[in-house]
Amino acid sequence: MKNKKSRFETEVIHSGYSADEHQGSLVPPLYQTSTFTFASSEQGEKRFAGQEEGFIYSRLGNPTVKILEERMAVLEQGEAGLAFSSGMAAVSAVLVALTKAGDHILCSKGVYGCTYGLLELLKEKYGIEHDFSIMDSTERLEREIRPNTACIYIETPINPTMKLVDLEMVARLANEKGIPVVVDNTFCSPYIQTPLTLGCDVVIHSATKYICGHGDVIAGLVIGKKEFIRQVSRTTQKDIGGIISPFDAWLLLRGIKTLPVRMDRHCENAQKLFEFMKSHPKIETVYFPGDPEHQDSPIAKKQMKHSGGLISFTITGTKESAQQVMNQLQLIKIAVSLGDAETLIQHPATMTHAVIPEEERRKMGIEDTLLRLSVGLEAWEDIQADLEQALEKV
Ligand SMILES: *Cc1c(COP(=O)(O)O)cnc(C)c1O
Repeated sequence: MKNKKSRFETEVIHSGYSADEHQGSLVPPLYQTSTFTFASSEQGEKRFAGQEEGFIYSRLGNPTVKILEERMAVLEQGEAGLAFSSGMAAVSAVLVALTKAGDHILCSKGVYGCTYGLLELLKEKYGIEHDFSIMDSTERLEREIRPNTACIYIETPINPTMKLVDLEMVARLANEKGIPVVVDNTFCSPYIQTPLTLGCDVVIHSATKYICGHGDVIAGLVIGKKEFIRQVSRTTQKDIGGIISPFDAWLLLRGIKTLPVRMDRHCENAQKLFEFMKSHPKIETVYFPGDPEHQDSPIAKKQMKHSGGLISFTITGTKESAQQVMNQLQLIKIAVSLGDAETLIQHPATMTHAVIPEEERRKMGIEDTLLRLSVGLEAWEDIQADLEQALEKV
């Protein structure tokens, strides 16, 4: 295995894998097995006791999955990684590992709909409270952090309004207070943003999105310190059981090789479409981290390498106008999810964020006329032409 640290574009292809250990196979093999045989009962005993390295049962670890976990740890510049059956399996394993009854979670104002649902469930069932914060200053955070705050949970850019949180600022204060900072880095991928290098403690991905990149896998990833990852792997992953299948890990290893190439194109296309949308008479507001007039533009410059492939926008009119625009699209597909080769559009108020009560949703800036576009890898001219014809008809 190469051990000299290489550039990101090289690490996505090589890290975590050594062909020498796998019969020279160029591509990581798929270990599609539920269990592993022991040479003797004593060996089984040693493996269970942790006295000997080696695999036992695929819920506790699998060679194909391990390659993915090591690669992601390198890409996020963390110590260790852990793969899950979905982004939500990753989010729930982390939040359950970090909290107990009576604790408090401080969360960015605006999160993925199911993360919101999970926070509500933790409150109702286990008395784990939460508050939402815009996290725009240390003064505000000082006021909002409670003695029982067990973790700070952040999405940035915030889905779908693209507001940003200054990760370095939050991490500095949280580190002083010994509160772990968890970042959902799904929207950026480690190619654009690496929260662990800014002092944050745990990174979560819905690997379903840019990490996979091909719309054919649901998966999640967690990256953090070795000790924390070990704890999650031995408790909330092993005993709740949201593990990834070896085949899905194998597909992710395949998809991830082109992450930088894909991200460059997603970002270039999004930049072009942003310029088009900004001057379109039927589009009111465009939310895009690459907008020089974006209120959080200085934060984007500081912590994001590129502006990403997601754009949200409100159109003039009503909820029905927004839905009509979607119905007129021909190339762009109506679907939730993001980060695929295909350009996707969705209506957060009735789709990804429908579980959030209307009043709370409005406070998060999710209007009925807001649409979110996940810019794909097609020619930007074709995506633009499709949007143009749809807007014309409404
Ligand atoms: C999709 C998504 C999730 C959930 O991931 P799944 O893989 O669908 O379980 C969490 N956070 C963000 C920001 C997402 O976009």
